[in-house]
Amino acid sequence: MTNPNRIVVLAGGVGGSRFVRGVRRACPEAQLDVVVNTADDITLHGLRVCPDLDTMMYALGGGIDDEKGWGRAAETWSIMDELKAYAVEPTWFALGDRDIATHLVRTQLIAAGATPTEITAALCHRWLDDERLRLLPMTDDRVETHVVVEDPQTASGRRAMHFQEFWVRHHAAPKVRQVLQVGIETATATAEVLTAIERADLVLVGPSNPVVSIGPVLATGGVRPALRATGAKVVGVSGILGGAPVLGMADKLLPAIGVAVDAGAVGLHYGARTSTAEGILDAWLVHETDTAAAERCTAAGLPTRAVPLLMTTPDHTAEFVRAGVALAAETA
Ligand code: GDP
Ligand code: CA
Repeated sequence: MTNPNRIVVLAGGVGGSRFVRGVRRACPEAQLDVVVNTADDITLHGLRVCPDLDTMMYALGGGIDDEKGWGRAAETWSIMDELKAYAVEPTWFALGDRDIATHLVRTQLIAAGATPTEITAALCHRWLDDERLRLLPMTDDRVETHVVVEDPQTASGRRAMHFQEFWVRHHAAPKVRQVLQVGIETATATAEVLTAIERADLVLVGPSNPVVSIGPVLATGGVRPALRATGAKVVGVSGILGGAPVLGMADKLLPAIGVAVDAGAVGLHYGARTSTAEGILDAWLVHETDTAAAERCTAAGLPTRAVPLLMTTPDHTAEFVRAGVALAAETA
């Protein structure tokens, strides 16, 4: 399989969108279906906000603020300033004027009865002129990541909050006791997601946060069985390089689910498809310096290669995507 024709990528927001840009660079002709985490979604000021889908859409559509990696380019903040002048909370989540238009459209379409999958397609109509590129919310059901953190000010010593409040407002500072995917028990993957995985010849698990980006996608009803059953090769890419996330605060969350902040531990957490009962991976990529992790995973039955994994430019990313495709081809 040198040239995959149908690729599915599992992804979150900022890291996920950088990865997908590299995948597109490596495989410009392939049908590319990106299954995006929706457990970060949140309602703010009456607007439904889907941070990962929006980051992905703006990034692939050329509308992203490239420096921040999220939000709209050339954004302005008049509405936020007005809300602050009214002392209307929350003010900790930045909603730019241009970005708010997206949330207005989405919220109206929800009120009109459209599904997240339909709404995403409608929004992407403006941004993506590539017919072979689709963004698919992992589910049309509502799932929200909440975290239970330590808080000495409460009677129980703990407090639960939406993941965005923990991440954006508190900068992941409080110690996390538990990560909850509220609604995940009854959430099911859409037909579009399951069909894409079934028909793919390559599935890429992006370097997105294993706990709050990839975790909810894998926990959505039907996704794991579909990954275990697909004829596609399933290749994962580590977002942990040299024992730390390159960007973001994934190191704050992995311990809460009992996984070490280590590329090898994350690979074995996803698991080998052939040698474990629940695993999903045929191959795993770790950073060039993580050779010990590569050896450990390979010895445990998960073929792993250490290659440069920094997503400095789409070309750099494309290079390791090709390495992943080559490794997948070797694991017959
Ligand atoms: P979010 O939803 O916006 O938080 O973004 P994602 O979950 O999609 O991606 C965040 C993850 O991407 C972080 O946890 C990092 O570990 C990973 N990441 C960021 N930059 C790089 C990079 O250059 N290379 C690799 N391999 N991973 C990266
Ligand atoms: Ca996210």
